Amino acid sequence: MKLASRFVAIAVVFTTLACGASDPSEDSVPSLSDRSPLVLISLDGFRWDYPDLTDTPALDRIMTAGVRAEGMIPVFPSKTFPSHYSIVTGLHPGHHGIVSNNIRDPRWPEPFALRFRDEVRNSRWWGGEPIWVTANRAGLRTASFFWPGSEAPIQGVQPDYWMPFDDSVPAETRVDTVLEWLALPEAERPTFVTMYFEETDSAGHEYGPGSWESLEAIRAADIVIGRLLDGLDAQGTLESTNIVVVSDHGMATHTSDQMIALEDYVELWPHEVFEVGALLQIFPDEGREGMIYDALHDAHPNLRIFRPSEAPAEFHLYDNPRLGPILGTPDPGWEVRPRGATRPGDWLAGHHGADPSHEDMHGVFIAAGPAFVSDATVARLPGVDIYNILAHALRVDPAPNDGNPARLDGIVRR
Ligand code: AMP
Ligand code: ZN
Ligand code: ZN
Repeated sequence: MKLASRFVAIAVVFTTLACGASDPSEDSVPSLSDRSPLVLISLDGFRWDYPDLTDTPALDRIMTAGVRAEGMIPVFPSKTFPSHYSIVTGLHPGHHGIVSNNIRDPRWPEPFALRFRDEVRNSRWWGGEPIWVTANRAGLRTASFFWPGSEAPIQGVQPDYWMPFDDSVPAETRVDTVLEWLALPEAERPTFVTMYFEETDSAGHEYGPGSWESLEAIRAADIVIGRLLDGLDAQGTLESTNIVVVSDHGMATHTSDQMIALEDYVELWPHEVFEVGALLQIFPDEGREGMIYDALHDAHPNLRIFRPSEAPAEFHLYDNPRLGPILGTPDPGWEVRPRGATRPGDWLAGHHGADPSHEDMHGVFIAAGPAFVSDATVARLPGVDIYNILAHALRVDPAPNDGNPARLDGIVRR
């Protein structure tokens, strides 16, 4: 399969070069082995302003050499799985199917959740074409040290190197393994690599985005990126490597008075409250949907309740059948849940998932390398535009997607 797709890709490159005389831009398509490697790094929950809150010398290095967007506007819901998968597919969750961290598909009895390893690895959930599949089609080798979607064959393709998600793997091990992959002999070396670090998200949830612990996590993430930069420098490949640092969403401070208890407005039994927190999904008992909707619709000024068909257009949910019949999203920082579901240990000081137009939900986009302009700042960038940027950096043709190709202007070198 891999060899076959490589053969096709080599044939395509040959044809492109052979026809290139009439189109100067195509003359510059490098052969497979000449392409700059691209490392895509995610710092979970790293809010857009985090680089300005404390010392981040490694990120500063990347920003000075390259380009920083004022923020990354995530998709709705601004949660880890939907947002990461939108970054690598250029599709909104309503189109790629990972509509939340918790999903129910009317066709199958088993729900999807981050901790259900069999489901996370089951191809049937993952629509669209992630960038590693696009790269594979072009004959490039790919690798992933964690990324939502990397554990499932998608369109029959998985990264050539991948790891089962395990948050106990130290960040240093992740970096050192990626450096080893990038130092492999040419025939085995990946051109595209993903990395993922969760500490900033964990600290933001537990202690809040402005806490001392969050600042410590920001500095720790920066040290990890510094380790990668130093390693590439030692390999002599820092200048020739494209590095893209993103996050999946930001984080809003949550206080104890920002709690909406569902029982204050509706009797929950026997309905299923499938997802709570910053996104509410309720599967009402048969025939009682209207009652639940009426009870919750105008219940609380900080809670927006809607059916998938009435979802705000800017949420791009496209009435996906995987969404619960009754959805809700509280304002950033607010939480909605059954009162009984809150135990002392459940307390969270930071939240995300809410309406991505709120600044607190915005993440980062920072990139440097031969594919990127230098010393530039650009306007806030929607997460669905990142796929086209990755495809451009890899010199591969992007699959159809929801991103706006004009957004590459001011970010990439043409
Ligand atoms: P969220 O609160 O939506 O930001 O989810 C964050 C959590 O997602 C992290 O604490 C990780 O434990 C989990 N997570 C991140 N990547 C993966 C993955 N590839 N597989 C399973 N869980 C993941
Ligand atoms: Zn996240
Ligand atoms: Zn989180």
